[in-house]
Amino acid sequence: MNKASNLPESLASSQAKGFSNGEPIAQFEIGSQQNFIYLVLDFATKQAAIVDPQKDLTAPMKALSENGFTLTTLILTHTHFDHTAGVVPLLSQMPNLEIRAGELDLHRLPKSVLKAPGFKVLQDGEKFRVGSIEIEALHTPGHSAGAFSYFMKTQGGLRVPYLLTGDTIFIRDCGRTDLDTGSTREMFDSIQRVKKLPPETVLLVGHHYARECATTLKTELQESPPFRCKSVEELEALP
Ligand SMILES: [Zn+2]
Repeated sequence: MNKASNLPESLASSQAKGFSNGEPIAQFEIGSQQNFIYLVLDFATKQAAIVDPQKDLTAPMKALSENGFTLTTLILTHTHFDHTAGVVPLLSQMPNLEIRAGELDLHRLPKSVLKAPGFKVLQDGEKFRVGSIEIEALHTPGHSAGAFSYFMKTQGGLRVPYLLTGDTIFIRDCGRTDLDTGSTREMFDSIQRVKKLPPETVLLVGHHYARECATTLKTELQESPPFRCKSVEELEALP
């Protein structure tokens, strides 16, 4: 644990460190748009989930096989192409993967993905498991109407809570709301929802736009301009 930031050592860096033995989250930076891809790793059952897969999955797949993990689940925070380019190639190798995505984001996915046997549309507040790790799906629209964030409370191998935010929350920032199905009002409401999570929650964001690779809710409550906004109007007025 990094004392200054309360971040797990494997995430307290300005460079994604990939697999770190015993750590339940592995972070990879892949592609030309600084995307973060995550593995959620359950060391108890050696089952794993991949979050927002990019096309080139060489590094995360190597980490999984070298460490004896089985990929069971594919989790999407939203369906902009830079977060889904790896879905079809992965499914062609592993047709029975469980896939989780939000209903209002399905229009950007190919039909072959929607028809896959393991495809499941998420409900807000729904809980599912990757091995023994329980994940709670929170509908957090604003950047995209069907965007979900994924909360993992402190449990088993997780010594702190984690939230996978996709492009809803960034470090010291939030996602843009001017794209297809975006909404600043919904973004404001989603930020208020995230604020209610435990302050020690580690936020795992969708792109490497800040110097750091991860942050905590406690830090963002103090330092992130969107988190400090008291109204939609204030959020809209941010540069
Ligand atoms: Zn996006």
